[in-house]
Amino acid sequence: MAIVEPVPSTGSDEPRRLLLRNTVNNEPIGEIEVQPAAEVQAAVERARKAQPEWAALSVERRASYLRRMLKVLLERQEDVIETVVRETGKTRTEAISMEIFAACDALSFHAKRAPKLLAPEKKSLHGVMRFMKKLTIHHVPLGVVGIITPWNGPFILALNPTAQALVAGNTVILKPSEVTPFSAHLLAEMFEQAGLPEGVLQVISGDGETGAALCEAEIDKISFTGSVATGRKVAEACARKLIPCTLELGGKDPMIVCADADIESAAAGALAGAYMNTGQYCCGTERVYVVDAVADEFTAEVVKRAAQLRQGDSGESDVGAIFWPNQMEIIESHVADAVDRGARVHVGGRRNPNLEGLYYEPTVLSEVDHDMKIMRDETFGPILPIMRVRDEDEAIAMANDTHYGLGATIWTNDDFKAAQLAQRIESGSVCVNDMTVTYGVMEAPFGGRKSSGVGQVNGENGLRGYCYTLPVIVDRFKGKNSRSFYPYGAKKDEGMLKAARFLFGTALGRWLS
Ligand code: NAD
Repeated sequence: MAIVEPVPSTGSDEPRRLLLRNTVNNEPIGEIEVQPAAEVQAAVERARKAQPEWAALSVERRASYLRRMLKVLLERQEDVIETVVRETGKTRTEAISMEIFAACDALSFHAKRAPKLLAPEKKSLHGVMRFMKKLTIHHVPLGVVGIITPWNGPFILALNPTAQALVAGNTVILKPSEVTPFSAHLLAEMFEQAGLPEGVLQVISGDGETGAALCEAEIDKISFTGSVATGRKVAEACARKLIPCTLELGGKDPMIVCADADIESAAAGALAGAYMNTGQYCCGTERVYVVDAVADEFTAEVVKRAAQLRQGDSGESDVGAIFWPNQMEIIESHVADAVDRGARVHVGGRRNPNLEGLYYEPTVLSEVDHDMKIMRDETFGPILPIMRVRDEDEAIAMANDTHYGLGATIWTNDDFKAAQLAQRIESGSVCVNDMTVTYGVMEAPFGGRKSSGVGQVNGENGLRGYCYTLPVIVDRFKGKNSRSFYPYGAKKDEGMLKAARFLFGTALGRWLS
């Protein structure tokens, strides 16, 4: 079963078209056009034209569109659930929690905070400078922002960066994944219903060709969420054009279970981390390191709980489908490689034989090591490999033995120890006694280290990342000082040298500077 298929062309001048099928029953769910570079550039030009008027609105006015969008979203929750479930195969509960609840929170948060975070900031200056100059930091929009998104969170991963870029005064071109394009089209329709002016948000459809064309178009920033391999291409394109980009990329998140952890909670957290969104979650728990003293107890608890999970597409299911066949191939190859190299399968380890669609059973493995793909490469599936380690030091060494660095979790009853361990993990964020929830905590900067990304979204800097931080320095004497700039001469030089000796070489001077 292929869920993205090329539609046979009827003429050479026509853009390519793609047919999409549902992963649960293989039924066609729609077609999209792969928009060529000329259409992408035309969209950028429309966005460029609409941007000055949008930027001229106050932040408060722009935030009011987010609030109206929130109202529309609350009215049209069922449309979002239906679209997301149809194009992903995720569970209804996950469509609500991950996509709708998180989207409502993002809209409400950015609408509330943006006016304060984007307001001009007066900064007091140091030393004698304070008597001469005034500094104000302005957060000015960048212009036209390109947002490229993946398929695992098709509504929220499009909405959150879009809301931030818009409220910051940019116009947006959104290029969703060709695997799940319909949620982004619905998003744009809902923003239109909320009254967003024409040209302020446009969705373009297509695959990598369209995404690459967007990176080459006359835009001012790319906000990219997706794989490491594509992220590198996006970074190269942005580097050639000298425009900024943020890259939110893949991960191989470790979970560390200490001897003093609450084992039942840790086991439940491991399941949530590994199986939520059928494991297709950038910050999903991809590998567990449990210290020897509690390894047997923890593994037994995980196995007991995993065996009780229900899989399917009814509203009562716990674990949904794999969103497209390419991911199924990766999952199967990782498990096969682990089993060949001696891993033990406790639960799952195969496609679900009772379901027709793309379902892989929630799986628990033990006796795994770092020679296996399952411990090294991003699996992005419902697989929980558990590795026994001697102590916390070995757990940290193993957690860092990767080129990824997106999220990590630590389970312990000792908050002080957790903070110490957290700082030793090379990771974009760390959650203690929870699965990785960082993306849902809007105040927390979210990003990846190592190959997992560049830059951060959310938090103050995430929102301000859609702006240029413009310092405006005003002379307190209306420019009269510049009259004494020239001529240079020995007297002036001696005066400056004396001032330097006083300001930085005496106690009073140091206090003043
Ligand atoms: P992908 O890199 O294959 O595709 C992502 C987007 O890039 C799609 O819209 C695609 O059409 C587009 N694209 C493809 N080639 C392009 C090119 N040359 N130039 C510009 N755009 C191009 O990723 P995916 O398979 O859709 O998503 C899964 C990956 O995303 C996983 O690795 C996952 O960990 C990661 N992810 C990361 C985060 C995060 O916040 N860090 C969140 C969700 C997913």
